[in-house]
Amino acid sequence: MKLQCPIEKKCGGCQYLAMNYEKQLSIKQDKIIKLIGKYARVNKIVGMEDYLHYRNKINATFKYKKSGIISGVYEEGTHNVLPVDKCFIEDEKADEIIASIRKLIPSFKITVYNEDTGYGLLRHVMIRVGKNSGQIMVVLVTSNPIFPSKKNFANALKKLHPEITTIVQNINDKKTSMVLGPRNQVMLGKGFIEDTLCGMKFKISPNSFYQINVEQTEKLYNLAIEYAGLTGKEKVVDAYCGIGTIGLVASKKAKQVIGVELNKEAVKDAIINAKINDCNNIKFYGNDAGKFMVDMAAKGEKADVVFMDPPRSGSDKPFLDSVIKLAPERIVYISCGPESLARDLDYIVKNSEYKVEKITPVDMFPCTEHVESVVLITRKDN
Ligand code: SAH
Repeated sequence: MKLQCPIEKKCGGCQYLAMNYEKQLSIKQDKIIKLIGKYARVNKIVGMEDYLHYRNKINATFKYKKSGIISGVYEEGTHNVLPVDKCFIEDEKADEIIASIRKLIPSFKITVYNEDTGYGLLRHVMIRVGKNSGQIMVVLVTSNPIFPSKKNFANALKKLHPEITTIVQNINDKKTSMVLGPRNQVMLGKGFIEDTLCGMKFKISPNSFYQINVEQTEKLYNLAIEYAGLTGKEKVVDAYCGIGTIGLVASKKAKQVIGVELNKEAVKDAIINAKINDCNNIKFYGNDAGKFMVDMAAKGEKADVVFMDPPRSGSDKPFLDSVIKLAPERIVYISCGPESLARDLDYIVKNSEYKVEKITPVDMFPCTEHVESVVLITRKDN
């Protein structure tokens, strides 16, 4: 069956939507083989059974049109808003909530933000769905802290969708293409959601990073933990740790874990997540991962296992040099950017006694060209 989306070409988000799933997987497999297959055999890509509507985080932008208010995504490379009612990869409930918000806006006389003039209140809506917990967070991004009749608006939305567990106002008063600003005000509920992953519970705040495909994340983490070969004796570093997910899952099988993350809100979540899950052998630090590792290496500290899960742009030389200096038995590199992964592996292999031992691609982003990989790097003398 060929999936047909009315804005497929203009949105540009789902490059592989028209392809059957097996074909999508084989293209991604080939891409990873081409980029890093020279280092080690590439295992078969881990796909999904039911590969649609996996996205648990949805953003929508609003705009006045002659026909009324529309909500959706930017046309690729522009700031022209394309209407989205249903999306094949987004959570279906979230799409319904966005449609309800669009309908409520006029009756509450909420103005829609205009990027050119800077006038108008509502800039974006972000929805996060805890796929395993069922909790749903709606974040209304506004250009101004003053949101007339916001309690009534929140109550009206909750009445239409009782499944919403929290509603937050996020204030973004800067001329920026970033969706969220730094400030949040709780309108209803707790101001965050929780979700479960690998049998553990995680708190997720509006600004924290959380993997967008939970089913595949569990498979990815299981592979990463398997590659780490933990026995209970290890000192582990979880670099670029976000809300601490990988480190916390690993902490149950390691002696001691250190997590490092740049985003302060994510670090706060990580510390709470350690408490929620009764993990007493883990510590989190808010810092640039590169700087943190340079400090660790300078102090002569050691680690047995380093997990690294950098953003799409990959890691940097100070980080990689320090990891090499720390000399862990195993480095588990989790990457959502195959090109930066290839660059970083090339650097590690050329500048150290490490080799790539295992590679497994994981399809975290079906219907798109993106692909995640988990790579085990070990010392050549092993
Ligand atoms: N391991 C986590 C998060 C991975 S996403 C998970 O699986 O959920 C990458 C994370 O790196 C984000 O949380 C981002 O805030 C963080 N980050 C980006 N640049 C960083 C840097 N220079 N130092 C430390 N963390 C960084």
